[in-house]
Amino acid sequence: MLRKNRLFTPGPTPLLPAAQTAMASFTAHHRTADFRALFQRVLADMKEFIGTKNDVLVQACSGTGVMEASVSNLTSPGDKVLVLTAGKFGERWTGLAKAFGCNVDVLSAPYGETFSLEDIRARITPDVRAVFVQATESSTGARHDVRGIAKIVRANGDDTLLVVDAITGLGTTHFDVDGWGVDVIIGGSQKALMIPPGLAYCAVSERAWRRMDTTTSPRYYFDLRKERKSAAKGESAYTPATSLFAALGAALGFVRGMGNGDLAKGREALVDNAELCAEMTRAGAQALGLKLYAASPAAALTAICSPEGIDSGMIVKEFRETFDAVVANGQGEMKGQLFRIAHIGYYDYLDTIGILGALEHVLGRVTGKTVAYGAAVRAAQEVYARGLSKRQLVGA
Ligand SMILES: *Cc1c(COP(=O)(O)O)cnc(C)c1O
Repeated sequence: MLRKNRLFTPGPTPLLPAAQTAMASFTAHHRTADFRALFQRVLADMKEFIGTKNDVLVQACSGTGVMEASVSNLTSPGDKVLVLTAGKFGERWTGLAKAFGCNVDVLSAPYGETFSLEDIRARITPDVRAVFVQATESSTGARHDVRGIAKIVRANGDDTLLVVDAITGLGTTHFDVDGWGVDVIIGGSQKALMIPPGLAYCAVSERAWRRMDTTTSPRYYFDLRKERKSAAKGESAYTPATSLFAALGAALGFVRGMGNGDLAKGREALVDNAELCAEMTRAGAQALGLKLYAASPAAALTAICSPEGIDSGMIVKEFRETFDAVVANGQGEMKGQLFRIAHIGYYDYLDTIGILGALEHVLGRVTGKTVAYGAAVRAAQEVYARGLSKRQLVGA
C-alpha cells in the first residue's frame, strides 16, 4: 500500500501547510518596516496564544535555549533553587541549574507519576529563589498540577519565582498564566505551533524582570533584558529566524481561525482538540488491554506501556515499517518499556482514528496474538461521540 509519512512524536510535530508556504516565500530583510510589522504582530499574537499580558520574547534556539536563559537570567551562583522532576525533561532542569552554580534541591517523583503538593509545600522555604518544573513531562506523558504548584509558590511571597517548561504544555493545556502568577512560561515552535524547530519563546512577569537586575550568572546571547529592549522597538537584538517568524505568523492566523477570528478562543479550541484526541487515544489503547504509563496523563501525548515481554522498540519499528507512522520510544531508562503517541498541534479526528487502527495491526504483529479488530477504534469513536453531544449541548 501507499504510505504517507506522518509524525506522532512529541516534537517535532506535523507542519501546518499554510505555515510551510509562508516560510518558503518569505524573503524580507530583518531591519525593514515589512519585517518589523510581522515581528510586532507575531509578538502581540503570541501573548494571546499564551494567554498573558506579560512581555513575550521569541528567540532563535530550541526549547532548551530558553530553559537555559531562565536559569542564567533569574539566578546567581549559590542561589537555592528547587527542581521538581519526574522524567527526562525535569532532569534537564537539574543539569541546567547545576551548570550555573545553583544550590539545587531536587524533589523527584518516580517516572510516570507526579508530585504531591504537600511534599512541594514542605520544600518551599523563603530562601528558595526559584522553582523549576514541567507542565507536561514529555518523557512519561504525565501532567503536573501547575495551578496547585503556583498557589504554593505565590503563598511563599515575591522572592520565589516559578518557571514552567510548558514546551509541550502550551496549546495542549489550559493555563491562566497571569491569574496563577507563573513568572516564566516557556514554549517551543516545533510543538503546538505546528512549525519547524528553531524558535523558543517565553512570557516573563514583572517580578522576574526585577530579579534580573540583581542576578549575576553569566549571559550574553540569552540576556533577556537586551531582547526585551529591542522587542520594545519592534526588533530583535540579533538576526531573528525570519522565515520561522513568517511561519509563526501563519500558524497564529490558523489558530485565530479556529476561534472564528478570536485568537484566545482559538487557543482554547486547540487545547480542547488535544484533550479530545488524547482521551480517544487512551480509551483505544485501554480497549486493547494496554496500560497507560502516566497516572495523570497529559493531553499533549499518551505514553503507553509495552505489553509484558515485548520491547517497545518493536512497536515503534512496526509502526514505521508498515505504516510510515513515527511514534516515539521511551527515553533513557524508559527505552523499550513504552511508546508515545502525541496529540500536540496539527492533529485531528482522522489522525487519531488512523493511528489507533494501525495500533491494532501493530499489536497483533508484535505479540503474535489475535487482536479484536475495531476494539480500539470503537472505544475512540464512543469517546468522540460523547464529546460531540457535549459540544452540541454547550453550543445550544
Ligand atoms: C521538546 C521539549 C523540550 C525542548 O527540547 P528542545 O529539543 O531543546 O527543543 C523541553 N521540555 C519538554 C517538556 C519538551 O517536550
